Amino acid sequence: MYDFMLSPAERALRDEVKRYVREEITSEFLRKMDRDEIIYPRDFVERLAALNLRGIRFPKKYGGRGMSWVADVAATEEIGCLGMALGCAFVMPSIVGEALNFFGTEEQKQKYLKPYIEGKLVAAEALTEPRGGSDFFGATTKAVLKGDHFIVNGQKRFVVGAEGADFFLVYCKTNFDANAHKYGRVSLIIIDKGPGVETEYHYGLLGCRGGGTGRLVFRDVKVPKENLVGELHGGALCFNQMMIPERLTSASGCLGVWGALDLAVRYSNRRAAFGKLIRKYQAVSFMVADAITQLDAARAITYMAARAVDEDAPNKRRIVSEAKRFTTEAAWDVVNKAMQVMGGIGYTDVYPLERALRDTRLGLIWTGTSEIMKLMIQHEYYDEVLNQPYDRRKMEHDAMNPDESEWCFNDEDMWKVHEAKGKGIKAPKPKGAKKG
Ligand SMILES: Cc1cc2nc3c(=O)[nH]c(=O)nc-3n(C[C@H](O)[C@H](O)[C@H](O)COP(=O)(O)OP(=O)(O)OC[C@H]3O[C@@H](n4cnc5c(N)ncnc54)[C@H](O)[C@@H]3O)c2cc1C
Repeated sequence: MYDFMLSPAERALRDEVKRYVREEITSEFLRKMDRDEIIYPRDFVERLAALNLRGIRFPKKYGGRGMSWVADVAATEEIGCLGMALGCAFVMPSIVGEALNFFGTEEQKQKYLKPYIEGKLVAAEALTEPRGGSDFFGATTKAVLKGDHFIVNGQKRFVVGAEGADFFLVYCKTNFDANAHKYGRVSLIIIDKGPGVETEYHYGLLGCRGGGTGRLVFRDVKVPKENLVGELHGGALCFNQMMIPERLTSASGCLGVWGALDLAVRYSNRRAAFGKLIRKYQAVSFMVADAITQLDAARAITYMAARAVDEDAPNKRRIVSEAKRFTTEAAWDVVNKAMQVMGGIGYTDVYPLERALRDTRLGLIWTGTSEIMKLMIQHEYYDEVLNQPYDRRKMEHDAMNPDESEWCFNDEDMWKVHEAKGKGIKAPKPKGAKKG
């Protein structure tokens, strides 16, 4: 349906994933995930690796396919209908791999990135701490450099894959200078699962079940210095880079609510009330119209963000944050509308809409909440309009009566304008000023 947005190679990849999702994933597997009978879907990961679907954007020499972000989004949109936990397992290489591919040494790429893409290793990323996730730069997990090792102590919370992963990308405080700028305090470190690394808690989650979400505790963990990713105290740069796949995959995964909407469409074409199909009531069919419009708008912004990253556009970070916020919120609305179309039965576990609804709610929280996205978006846009070279028409003078004397933004401006116009009106002297 959306072939026109994809190149032939991207279309072929999307079709491969579509087939896999349709034919290979059993409903019982999804039920087991949702019943938390699966701690981490390792088989799923290994099958993805066998199909060479774990490194879509990464160089072929590390086992990837060297494809575009648009391709990645198209594949993730198909996987998205399987739910948040499988979606997360699918996209995690895109997130963890980004840091390793962008900042990692050749040794790190051979030791971690390649086997990760090949499905021999599983990884997770650990940013959030019990003290907070939004305030990322306030990380308190400590990594103290002693000779050729770091000694790591601290805790990370809500880590998907805390159970199941073989190594973790962990943001740690490494600069203890009280005057250090917040962007120069943390470092990104690879920590293998091993002595001192414990998964202490497996959360009872509303949705996203079966992904091994837990709390990680590090107690005097000895980590070789070579496991530093990027520069010492350079974690802010890694974070900035990883935020692109974090947010773009959250957006593309949420496009998977097409599955819930299509289910509701089929239902409304069979269910009758007051002697006619419910889809014949505009109240119902207009909900569908609104939902597909929202979903297409979300699709548009998400693919636009993917193109922006592929083209390395200067405003790519803003557009990615917009895509994350808009798409996750649109998906939440779409899944609610799908449930409304189905009436009471949609609220039961006779249909999987209730699972889709529970899963979709997470989109607005993880990888940066909607509020944090808005903070980023406005910050970037103010900077673009006010501080960057501006070569577009400024429309202030296009008013019918562009009276500059009315363009006052504060007291001082008001008097300046009058003085400039030679109206003989002088600004009053501030109180206490000397005469003459
Ligand atoms: C199921 C699940 C899986 C997750 N997976 C991972 C993972 O794999 N790895 C990982 O590191 N993290 C993960 N997270 C953590 C997730 O990214 C954080 O929960 C999220 O970033 C919010 O942080 P917080 O929960 O500490 O909320 P807080 O930071 O305490 O925020 C609470 C509220 O305050 C608002 N708020 C905070 N600061 C501001 C501000 N400056 N302006 C306006 N509003 C503000 C927030 O928007 C939110 O509404 C996961 C979370 C869940 C629930």
